[in-house]
Amino acid sequence: MQSLRVELGQRSYSIHMGSGILGDSSLIAPVLGKGPVAIITDTNVGPLYLKTLQNTLKYLHKDALVVTLPAGEESKTLDHVQTITGELLKAGYGRDCTLCALGGGVVGDITGFAAAVYQRGVACIQFPTTLLAMVDSSVGGKTGVNHPLGKNMIGAFYQPRCVIADTDTLDSLPEREFRSGLAEVIKYGLINDLSFFSWLEDHLDSVLARDNEALEIIIKTSCKDKADVVARDELEGGLRAILNFGHTFGHAIEAASGYGHYLHGEAVAIGMVMAADLSRRLDLLRESEQNRIYKLIKAAGLPTLAPRLEISTYMDFMKVDKKAEAGQIRFILLNSIGSALITGDVPPAAITQTLQAFM
Ligand code: NAD
Ligand code: ZN
Repeated sequence: MQSLRVELGQRSYSIHMGSGILGDSSLIAPVLGKGPVAIITDTNVGPLYLKTLQNTLKYLHKDALVVTLPAGEESKTLDHVQTITGELLKAGYGRDCTLCALGGGVVGDITGFAAAVYQRGVACIQFPTTLLAMVDSSVGGKTGVNHPLGKNMIGAFYQPRCVIADTDTLDSLPEREFRSGLAEVIKYGLINDLSFFSWLEDHLDSVLARDNEALEIIIKTSCKDKADVVARDELEGGLRAILNFGHTFGHAIEAASGYGHYLHGEAVAIGMVMAADLSRRLDLLRESEQNRIYKLIKAAGLPTLAPRLEISTYMDFMKVDKKAEAGQIRFILLNSIGSALITGDVPPAAITQTLQAFM
């Protein structure tokens, strides 16, 4: 097992990553509130891992209330926050209770938000079970749900008491979901960690084989890299935007192709290939580095081509993306592998050429 202490503002918490740690009561005991415990999970994860967590809690004399949501993004709604808080109220849970999120980013986001608002805030422990949730949602304190008019439009910044990422749970994660999470891992190397990027080039086989040691390294390094960026910009003033590398194109690809066609990380992978190409066109990034980026994303089994649609379709989606300010699309580009910059000053002709090159 490995651990990382995340320090954000006055708050700090530990992220533990390792094989079998869902069964380790000594990690959970120090962060449980005095009161009762509830586990929020989904219909895919519950049947696989709920029993293990329940047993660990039983060992600590806690009988957990369980709320199981239907698996999938459609569950990330205020209605389901109502369901969760309703169950807590019916059970008479007070401010000393602890909510445990057992699942991917969907369960993590909604549980974190329910914990932030239930009786103005109760303890929350995250047990992420997807690679994406382990490397992305674990750090940054973003919680929330979707609104019919926009994704993640209702939410709060709320830090968990602790994150416990049991790498064994990744054994059952479908291959596409795993590779999709890997796109965000590669992103951290690209935006601020050259040595991690090189490590990924050298150890991709072990990562794809889900070797436990390799998983611990990518989870720990990703969380550390994200925490470094977030710590310098906790409430999203500016720098944090570099975490959106690949996402300007990526969100447009997700939207233009119809949500659900690509997994988020797949769209981000294509977006990163495009952002690297655009960086090279603007003479920021060397061609040899662009080639390394393309090669790693390809070797990770991620897509590198967007659907062939009108350029204007992509442009329109990029303009409505929340990173567009005053009609100018803001791009995160690379000076080199490990060094990102934010700019609104990109000639439309270059964007068009990049889109054409990867459709
Ligand atoms: P998800 O939670 O929907 O999980 C993907 C699928 O895998 C689901 O069907 C789930 O039931 C299943 N699953 C989860 N763990 C499994 C396991 N171990 N074995 C088998 N199946 C398993 O999606 P996700 O990709 O984990 O997360 C996406 C969500 O995370 C989005 O809603 C996104 O907005 C959010 N997110 C939040 C942050 C943040 O900072 N809070 C960051 C990135 C993404
Ligand atoms: Zn992302």
